Amino acid sequence: MIAPATLATATWLALGDERYPQDVELGPAPPPFGHDAIEFRDRELGTGITLYVNFDGVDLGSCNPSNSKKNCHWYNNDPIAPFSGDTQSRVAIVQAMRRHTEAYGIRITALRPDEGDYAMVVYGGTEDEFGALGSAPAGDCLDALPNEIAFAHLDGDLAPWVVGGSTTALHEAAHTWGLDHIDLPTEIMYPEGDNSPTAFDDRCHRIVADTSLADGEPSCPELGTELCDAAGQQNSHAVLTRLFGPPYVDTLAPTIELVSPDDGEYFQAPADFDVVLDVVDDLHPQAYTMWTWYGDGPRPDDPTTTVSPGFRVDALPVGTWSFHVALADEAGNETQLDFEIEVGTEPPPPPPGDDGCRVGGSGEPSRATLGILPVLLVRRRRRR
Ligand SMILES: [Zn+2]
Repeated sequence: MIAPATLATATWLALGDERYPQDVELGPAPPPFGHDAIEFRDRELGTGITLYVNFDGVDLGSCNPSNSKKNCHWYNNDPIAPFSGDTQSRVAIVQAMRRHTEAYGIRITALRPDEGDYAMVVYGGTEDEFGALGSAPAGDCLDALPNEIAFAHLDGDLAPWVVGGSTTALHEAAHTWGLDHIDLPTEIMYPEGDNSPTAFDDRCHRIVADTSLADGEPSCPELGTELCDAAGQQNSHAVLTRLFGPPYVDTLAPTIELVSPDDGEYFQAPADFDVVLDVVDDLHPQAYTMWTWYGDGPRPDDPTTTVSPGFRVDALPVGTWSFHVALADEAGNETQLDFEIEVGTEPPPPPPGDDGCRVGGSGEPSRATLGILPVLLVRRRRRR
């Protein structure tokens, strides 16, 4: 989390975003004709969508309109480095984004989806470098192009901004969904942003062009007329509800894959190793609840909360050890992984040898030995 001092010194900044031409001049995404044509269709209104927050850097090819699945855009074609914030700060940002959108059918993930439509917000680069907090293609009334790409530039000095980072990413994503700027400083769609709290408001507000707050050209006048009785107004909450329907409900359990050591791997006593896990979930990353234990005992009552599931084992004595890892996502969906580790007195066989030769342990460890077995939980274990 951010130290209050950091917040205090940062909030004086009131950086205008959208100083890029796409918000000002380009308006609606160009029609998808020509070589880069993609499927052009109306979204089914009131159905959920996925928003992929890409913290991992991009090197976008060229296409028009932008396309998250093809990783291409009609601007920002130079590589953008991965976001420098650690897993903890990435989790804080996506958690804040999920809280702002919990009323709508919007699934927010930082893992690139394997299938289906998804808008992508590239979270990287600095405001200095790009001249704005973010940018996005605008004018996509009713989200007819569900795979557009937006940008949030909060690396560098602004990397600690969780509040402003989450609202900037949502502001830019909302442009790709067809939302416009409005004249309410506490709203996410206000054309200026900083690190102070804003939200999607459930009232109608005047659509503005930019930070001048002059009247703006509505991207979707029919929606303004329908929801606000005024083509030049926008109710962001009502628009998001209309577009994406009721809240996304997480009923999927995470999956855990053992990256290292191998199940059944042999170590010479005393064995020290990291247990590296690859976790996938529909809402990854997040704060997982993790239980770890070994043997036939019951699951312990005291789980750990971690954004990077994994742990370290130190000085494991001779024996055959059954490890268990149970993991629950924030919605409480659980999964379990079990694996075995062999520890013996002899050194492990040379690498090219087959693993058919298991060096036997010297019998069951004593209760005392088990009692001191340290299964230490450490923070950084994820590999991607
Ligand atoms: Zn904007």
